[in-house]
Order: sequence, then structure tokens, then C-alpha cells
Amino acid sequence: MLFGKHINRYYLRYGWLLLLGIAALVAVDTNMLKMPELYRLVVNGLNSGEGVLADGTVVAFDMNFLLDEICRPMLFILVFMAVGRFLWRICFFGSAVRVETDLRGRMFDRCKDLSRQFYEREKVGNLMSLFTNDLETVHECFASGILMLADAVLLGVMAFYKMLRMHGLLTLFSLVPMILLFAMGAIVGKSMRQKWQKRQEAFSDLSDFSQESFSGIAVIKAFVKESKELLAFRKLNRQNEDTNVAYTKISTLFQIFVTLFVESIICVILGYGGYLVHEGVFNAGQLVEFIGYFTSIVWPVMAISQLIELRSRGRASLDRIGDLLDTPVDVEDADDVEDVPPLTGKIEMKHLTFRYPGADYDSLSDVSLSIEAGENVGVIGKTGSGKTTLVDLILRTYNIPDGTLFLDGHDVNRIPIRTVRKYAAYVPQDNFLFSDTIGNNISFAADGELSPERIEAAARLSDVHGNIDEFPEKYETVLGERGVTVSGGQKQRISIARALMKEAPILILDDAVSAVDTGTEETILKNLRETRRGKTTILIAHRVSTVEGMDKVVYLEDGHVAAVGTHNELCETCPAYRNMVELQKLQSLSESKEAAK
Ligand code: ADP
Repeated sequence: MLFGKHINRYYLRYGWLLLLGIAALVAVDTNMLKMPELYRLVVNGLNSGEGVLADGTVVAFDMNFLLDEICRPMLFILVFMAVGRFLWRICFFGSAVRVETDLRGRMFDRCKDLSRQFYEREKVGNLMSLFTNDLETVHECFASGILMLADAVLLGVMAFYKMLRMHGLLTLFSLVPMILLFAMGAIVGKSMRQKWQKRQEAFSDLSDFSQESFSGIAVIKAFVKESKELLAFRKLNRQNEDTNVAYTKISTLFQIFVTLFVESIICVILGYGGYLVHEGVFNAGQLVEFIGYFTSIVWPVMAISQLIELRSRGRASLDRIGDLLDTPVDVEDADDVEDVPPLTGKIEMKHLTFRYPGADYDSLSDVSLSIEAGENVGVIGKTGSGKTTLVDLILRTYNIPDGTLFLDGHDVNRIPIRTVRKYAAYVPQDNFLFSDTIGNNISFAADGELSPERIEAAARLSDVHGNIDEFPEKYETVLGERGVTVSGGQKQRISIARALMKEAPILILDDAVSAVDTGTEETILKNLRETRRGKTTILIAHRVSTVEGMDKVVYLEDGHVAAVGTHNELCETCPAYRNMVELQKLQSLSESKEAAK
């Protein structure tokens, strides 16, 4: 049984299923407690040769009595218990599966709303362990928890009542130690929860590390750092083992202690009960019946001890899941956002200063810039000058101050984020591709049914159709994780094709042609100019040759706009830009000389 802000709702939602399960449990438990009465009849019958019927009539303890009064009811009880157990399992475990599914859906829903900032902070491995290990624990705790609690209470109370009716003092002897056991369980439970939390954290670290190693396997191999990685993995694996051992130690010790405790109580019952038989207070059959009731209580007590352990784990995992579900969505619409007419692509920045959350310097300072709808703009500058930050802000990836960024004259903070992103297409720097077919990757950005011709047209524009056509499966070629079966340049061009499918009024390409040769780059740029006439295109580049044909070039230096104008204007007015142009010319000259040798 697990309670908490994020789980209480399910007790109401699946209350009917849980109540049905509890009803089945009551029926099973009631019948189960009839068994000790049958043991008494058999033991006493064997001793005295007489059997006692339900109405108190004494008859001979013969084959007929055995069949009618013992075997038949016993068979009925067993069948009934089997059916009842099946029913409550379906009810409890079925509702737990639904809880897990719903929680997973809510977690994914929250994850999709969380900003990029969250994913920069949070590691993928940790998120994966929340979705696997922690959810599994909550599932287990929800199902088994209710079952154990209901069974422990029902069976415990009923058996206790029957024992009390037989002999008060003997019952007291058997139950006082149980209360002590409860108290101890509560104390040990806290420590077990802490240990479980540590165990889960160690597991997260391990998953993080494995995930990162697999993603970066090319780098690891290139630098021959396999042994270093192995050593680091071993260390984390050992930590994971240690936390597991620490948890298993305490939980096993607790289980052993409970078993020992229960068995010692049986010794007490046998001792004192034997004395009562000797004194004639009890007969042998009654002692067997009493022990039968006590053994029915053993399971509930064991269950309670397991429940304490299970709850400790469940609460630790639920806390971790709760942290995710309670993570505030930091980039979201303000209350006063309003839908706007379709955006045309006019962008204006007014004294925009931006600092990444938690950073101690501004990445953009006092940026003022105006981009008309339909303009082709190149953004250039040294690494770290703020190019990516500038375009990310247009997509509203981070929060920015009011009155600093306008789209079609509307303050971006007054437009729904979905609207902003609906009118923009983006080619990210890392060119992430899904493990899906090339066709599906290209059509990802567009809505609705798409004809193969449209997909092919986009691929032609980004000059990748020729490469795709050479694959045996063509557009049906499935890309491996992160598109490992295609080259860097092909990845970039598939990403461009994906963005072009959207036909958005604003297209942002972040260093999107860096891995293609200059000939291909020229083709792509020419195609972009032709197909995106009247639409805004912003292209971040490192090579001057990429941006020199643009309507406007923005030259960034240390987070501020150092110059804006055409390539020729910047060459005349901005010495830093001119230097960069000359430097790149020299570089390409020496490269071509090298190639000619
Ligand atoms: P460019 O694209 O020109 O290489 P960026 O826009 O990526 O530059 O980065 C500009 C500055 O902002 C750099 O100093 C960089 O270290 C910093 N920066 C970039 N991303 C983050 C981030 N997520 N958190 C904190 N600082 C960042």
C-alpha cells in the first residue's frame, strides 16, 4: 500500500476493482480458517474413535465420516480458495498494471513539456531508470502492498478472534511478540528506505555511464580508451553492487529475524499448549487447531514485515518519480498569450540581453537586430560568440525578458510557444535523426499524409536524393541509432530535407552545411534561395563563402552584434570581419596548394 500525492487518485479510480479483490480475499480467508477445525476433527477422531457433526451429534469416526465431513469439505475449500485467489490476483495485479501505465504516461507527458534546460541538467540514464526500475517498484508495491495489507488485517483479525475464543492467555503469549515485531519493522523500514534510495541512485549512475559510453563508442575507440572506460565502468558497477549488498543485507537480516521470531513463538505455543493438554484444559485436537490458526497468522505477520520493506522501496521510488512529475515547466506560455495571424517571418530584437540559467556571464548582450520577412540572413562569428543562442531564442527555447524579441511586431512572450514553433523550421547543429526509415525522418516535420514525391522533392532540394537512391532500400532504409549508417554530410542533408518539408515562414539552419563539400553547399544554397523566396531563412555558418551571397550578414563578437550588412558592406566597415575573410581566403589557398601537391 503506497500513498502519496501522485498515487492517491488511483485508489479512487480503481476502487471498484480493489473492492472486488478484497471481497474475494475475504471469501478465501474465511474458508481457509475452516481448515484448522477439520484438523481438530481428524486428530480427535483418531484419538477417540468418534467424530462430531456440525450440530454436535457424536458419530463413529469411520470412512463415511472421513469422506463426508473431512475430505469433501476440504476439497470444496481448496477449489474455492483457488478460484478466489485467481480473482484477487486479477483485481490487484490488474489495477497495478493500469496504475503503472497511467503513471508512465504522466511522466512522459511531463518530460515532453520540460525545457531543454532540464535535459541539460538531467542525465538520460537517470530518466531511463525512473521509467524502468522505479516504475516497476511502484507497480510491485501498489499490487502486493494492497494484497498484503488487506490479507494481513483480514486473516489476522479473524484468526486472532478464533484463537481468543479458544484460550485468552495462550493468544496473548503468541501475539505480544508480534507487536514488538511491528515496532522493530517500523524502525528498520526507515533505514531500508534510505538504502533503497542509494541503490536506485547507483543504478541510475550506471545506466547513465553505459548509455553515454555506447553513444560515444566511436570517440572511445578512436582514442583507444576502452580500458579507461572499462575501469570507470567497473568502479560504478562495484558501487552498484555495494549499495545492492547493503540493501540486501539489511532486508535479509530482517526477514531472517522475523522467521526466527515466529518459529520461537510456535515453540512457546507448543510448550504452554502441551501443558494445557496435560492439565486437561485442551485436548490434542484443539491444540492442533490453535496451531493451525497461529500458522494462518504467520503469513500476515510475514506479509507485514515484507510490506514494511516493500513500502520503503516503493516510497523511495515514488519520491523520485514525484520529483520528476513536480519539476516545474520553466519555459511555458504566460497567462496573457494570444493567438496571432499567421506569422510572415519578420523578426526584431531590441536590446536583447540573455544569460543561461545558472551561468555567471551574459551569452548575448544588448543585441538589436531587424530581419524583414523573406530576407536571407547569414549569422557568422567565432565559436562561442552566441550564434546558436541567438537562433535558439527565436524558437523560444529559453525565457527572455519582455519587450526584447518581436515576431511580426508581436512580443514573443505574448504569442503561444506552439505558435512560434509552428511557423519555424529548424536544422539543429547535431542533426539528430530517429532510428526510423529515411522517408519517415524526412516527413517527420510535416503534418498529415505525405506523398513519396514530396519527400523526394525535399531530398532533391537538400541534394541528398542521389545518395538515398543508391541505398538498396532507398527511402525505406532504416537508420541506426542516431543515424549511424549515414555519413555526417548525409545526416546534415537529411536534416535539411526534414526542415524543408515544413515550408515554414522562418527556417533556421544552425551550422547545417559544415560537413558538406563546397559544391554541394552551393547547390543547397541555390535551391534554398529559389524555393524559399518570400520566406525568412537564417543560416549560421563558419565559412564566409556560405554567407556572402545572403541579403544580410550578422557578425557576432562575444555575444554582441559587431556589424550588420551585406558581405561587401561588412568587408568595408568591419575590420574584424575583413580579417576573418582574409584569413579564410589564405586558409583555402593553402589547402588547395596542399591538395595539388
Ligand atoms: P556559438 O554558437 O557562436 O558557438 P553559443 O551560442 O553556443 O555560441 O554559446 C555562446 C556562449 O554561451 C558560450 O560562452 C557558451 O559557453 C555559452 N552557452 C551555450 N550554451 C549554454 C548553456 N546551455 N548553458 C550555459 N552556457 C551556455
